[in-house]
Amino acid sequence: MKEDGAIVIRFEGVNGSPVVSGICIRKAPKVSVPQVTHEYLKCNNCASMIEVPSAQKKLLETKSTMKYEKKIEELTMQCQRKTKECYEAWMSLTSANEQLDKVRMELDNVMFNTLSKDQTMEKQAENLRNISGRYEHDQIYWAAAINNLHEKIKVMKKEHLQLSCEAHDCVDSIPELNKMVFAVQTLVAQCEDLKVKYSEEQAKRKKLFNEFQEAKGNIRVFCRCRPLSKEEISAGSTKIVEFDAAKDGCLGILTGGSTKKSFKFDRVYTPNNDQVDVFEDASPMVTSVLDGYNVCIFAYGQTGTGKTFTMEGTEQNRGVNYRTLEHLFNIAKERSETFTYSIAVSVLEVYNEQIRDLLATSPTSKKLEIKQASEGFLHVPGIVEAKVDNIREVWSVLHAGSNARAVGSNNVNEHSSRSHCMLCIMVKAKNLVNGECTKSKLWLVDLAGSERLSKTDVQGERLKEAQNINRSLAALGDVISALATKSSHIPYRNSKLTHLLQDSLGGDSKTLMFVQISPSDKDLGETLSSLNFASRVRGIELGPAKKQLDTSELQKLKAMLEKARQESKSKDESLRKLEENLQNLESKAKGKDQSHKNLHEKIKELEGQIELKTAIHNQSEKQLWQLSERLKGREEVCSNLQQKVKELEMKLVEQRHSESASFQQKVKELENKLKEELQKSESYTVSLQHEVNELERKLKEQEQNSESCLLHQKIKELEDKLKVQEQQSQDCTDAVRATPKTFIRDELMNEIEPRILRSSNSINRPLSQGSTLQRGNDSFHEMRRKRDFRNADAENNIFVSSSLNDTKVSRKSDPPKIARVMRTTKLVTATQGPLMHKRTSRDYNQGIKERENKKKIWS
Ligand code: ADP
Ligand code: MG
Repeated sequence: MKEDGAIVIRFEGVNGSPVVSGICIRKAPKVSVPQVTHEYLKCNNCASMIEVPSAQKKLLETKSTMKYEKKIEELTMQCQRKTKECYEAWMSLTSANEQLDKVRMELDNVMFNTLSKDQTMEKQAENLRNISGRYEHDQIYWAAAINNLHEKIKVMKKEHLQLSCEAHDCVDSIPELNKMVFAVQTLVAQCEDLKVKYSEEQAKRKKLFNEFQEAKGNIRVFCRCRPLSKEEISAGSTKIVEFDAAKDGCLGILTGGSTKKSFKFDRVYTPNNDQVDVFEDASPMVTSVLDGYNVCIFAYGQTGTGKTFTMEGTEQNRGVNYRTLEHLFNIAKERSETFTYSIAVSVLEVYNEQIRDLLATSPTSKKLEIKQASEGFLHVPGIVEAKVDNIREVWSVLHAGSNARAVGSNNVNEHSSRSHCMLCIMVKAKNLVNGECTKSKLWLVDLAGSERLSKTDVQGERLKEAQNINRSLAALGDVISALATKSSHIPYRNSKLTHLLQDSLGGDSKTLMFVQISPSDKDLGETLSSLNFASRVRGIELGPAKKQLDTSELQKLKAMLEKARQESKSKDESLRKLEENLQNLESKAKGKDQSHKNLHEKIKELEGQIELKTAIHNQSEKQLWQLSERLKGREEVCSNLQQKVKELEMKLVEQRHSESASFQQKVKELENKLKEELQKSESYTVSLQHEVNELERKLKEQEQNSESCLLHQKIKELEDKLKVQEQQSQDCTDAVRATPKTFIRDELMNEIEPRILRSSNSINRPLSQGSTLQRGNDSFHEMRRKRDFRNADAENNIFVSSSLNDTKVSRKSDPPKIARVMRTTKLVTATQGPLMHKRTSRDYNQGIKERENKKKIWS
């Protein structure tokens, strides 16, 4: 109502367009009594102002003030008491927390120990797994090795069996072998006997042959007459040589008119006889060389009568030299099983009583002299002895010799006729049967021309040559003659020729002389001279008177010869057979010996193999035993380890059980304590609430009382105190929550916090809400499950509760109340706050740090 009387209606908090349907205006009654000052009290419910007379109000107010002051004092006392109790409860809670911390620490330690044990156990389990893996691997490996060894042993056993079978066979075959050995031994004995017999026979054969040769004569003279040359025929020369009895070795020389001179030689060769015929008779002499006799074959005669032809021959028509060597090699080859021969050749020339080595590659000024090497054996030191193994080498040596001879003179024929060409073949033989060694030599001499000096009208050097030739030939004749007549003195040293031939002339040595003659009548004198010389050499003077005598003698000799030949033939035959038999026996004996040796070697080899195999077998068995021992040891170690692991597991389980049981026990005890504490505090708060409610009810009753405002203030103060208590309990919960080291403590504190909050909230709420305490009986596992959620939720609850309180404060908009609240807070903090804050903040931070540290260690 404005001053001008207008009524203004203002709608506040109304939506839309309100319509005023009617207004009731009541006129206030006029007060006639002395005006009593009224004061108004505002209704809390309807906000209507209730008029109270000031006097009454003052009385009421004093009375109620007195009452309320008393009540406030009582309540303050109670509050202080409760605060003390709360403080004690809080202290006990703190100690319980400390204990809880200790328990948690212990639990942590135990958990850490458990974890470390778990880790060690895992390590051990890993080790065990590794060991078992290795063991399995080893087991597989050793099993494979054992199998392999078993296989090897099987194979070895098989081989051993086979070898033993073979050994048995060998042992079985030993009697047969012994028989064979016995047979071989008898054969060897037979062979030895045969050898002895053979050598005896050979000796006999040699002796017989030698006797035969000797019967023929150690000095034999063969006469060879060349055919008339074309020149001689053209010159009208006539033949003066008769060969009617040539087969009997008789030769007739027509000396002129009807006179005829006969000569007798060992063999007479007509011009029709070729080189083969000549050598056929000379070959036994050659054979004597291989038997160890010295032999000397030389050709004597006038120049141009065919000495060189007979000795050397031509390439198409080889002479005695070549054929002799060929024959030597052939016989040596035939006798190669019983004899070994080494043949060496020297080619010399004696010219003017000087020896010249025709095989020397370089000419030497040194004179070659004849020396006595051993008894009955002469040697020319420094002479070349060319060793020849086959006939081709012989030919090259002979060719070299003849070439060297040609070098010495301008006219080959002339020179050759004035020097003696001497081919010496040295034979070393070894009898393989009896080991007998022989050394023999064969001289093949192409003598210089024997023509007489008187006929050669020469002077000076030529004369000297002729004299030397004549002297040497005469000396040769003298030596042979002396030998034939068995003279006591043999004049070997009269010439170089005879000196060189000393060991091959006389004694057992054989001498063969080819006396070469010309059939021409123009050479009659020389022919007769040569034939005379040859006859002298032969030691028989042949004449017409002696001819007969000679014939009867000859007949006798012939018969003897024939007989000897027959004998020698039959002996040769038997010898050949014996040799063949011997060879067969030797080859058989060799074969048997070889087989015997082979069998012995085989037996030895098999024995060695058996020994080796048994050694290997033993070794493998040893290895197997060692392996099985090792396996057993490993198995024992494994079982021990397994046992240890089981024991450790058992211990761990026991420890876990005991520790967890003790912890659970402790936790339960602590929970019970906490519950008791909470129940105490809540029962106290409930009683306080009751009192407050009662006070409120009384206040309502005494609404008229003037001191109701003060009462309200008191109530507010009480409410603040309660809030402080609530704050205190919240701080307690914070302190508990601030150390989230273990889940058990967190759970407990999270469980406590809402209860405190609920209890604090329950101040302004119906009492029935305090039934949340029943939740304290929630299971431990549920608390653990909700832990994290509640941690966050508790903080929100604190905030909400404080905000609720704030809204209350703000709604009342009572500044002094804030100051009071501040004061009470200070009062509380002065007594409990610093410790609380310090502890809560420190514990909280410490808890976070510890939790993080433990997380790191455990991870
Ligand atoms: P020497 O050596 O005695 O002086 P040779 O051997 O030089 O004599 O012979 C002289 C010649 O006579 C040569 O031409 C040779 O061929 C020939 N001659 C010698 N003997 C015979 C023979 N038995 N048959 C054929 N020709 C021969
Ligand atoms: Mg000649």
